[in-house]
Amino acid sequence: MAEALSDDVESNITNASVSVQVNYPGPKSDVQYPLNVQYCGECSLPLEYCEYGSDPERCREWLERTLPDLLNQMQSTNSSDDKGGEKKRQTRGGKGMPKGKKKSEAQKIILNKQQRKGNKYVTIVQGLASNEVDIELARKFFAQKFSCGCSKSGDDELTIQGDVVNELIDLLPEKWNQINPELIEDKS
Ligand SMILES: [Zn+2]
Repeated sequence: MAEALSDDVESNITNASVSVQVNYPGPKSDVQYPLNVQYCGECSLPLEYCEYGSDPERCREWLERTLPDLLNQMQSTNSSDDKGGEKKRQTRGGKGMPKGKKKSEAQKIILNKQQRKGNKYVTIVQGLASNEVDIELARKFFAQKFSCGCSKSGDDELTIQGDVVNELIDLLPEKWNQINPELIEDKS
């Protein structure tokens, strides 16, 4: 019984070790081995890290004095790297700013008015939520601002009592600076 158990354990261990696969990246064709790291005589960091050191200017001077060839080499690779680095930084910036991303996807804000009983109008605002406006806060804001009734009349639609279309055209981008005035469409 005990023997059978230990056999099981053993085979389990064997199986486990067989199933584990680790893929180490192989040597790169464009890198010379063994790696020869050149350290800076000024800040004692590897040369690539000098720019993060306390005084990159002095590091550069040291490199100019000591290893001018290497400096030239680094500068030539740097200039080609710069474009890629710039591009990467921009991409990262874009990802880090969801607001900017959403802004490009912003929908039109449609202002319309409808005549109700007699000479009374209501103003209908569509598209605020898709412009990152909290629709409930907007509803309260309009009600207070125009001292009138304002109600949610759809997923992304507010109905304001009264004709306030012209006021809204100026007010919306003032109140919510993510709103692009050009996306406000007056259909009234
Ligand atoms: Zn340095």
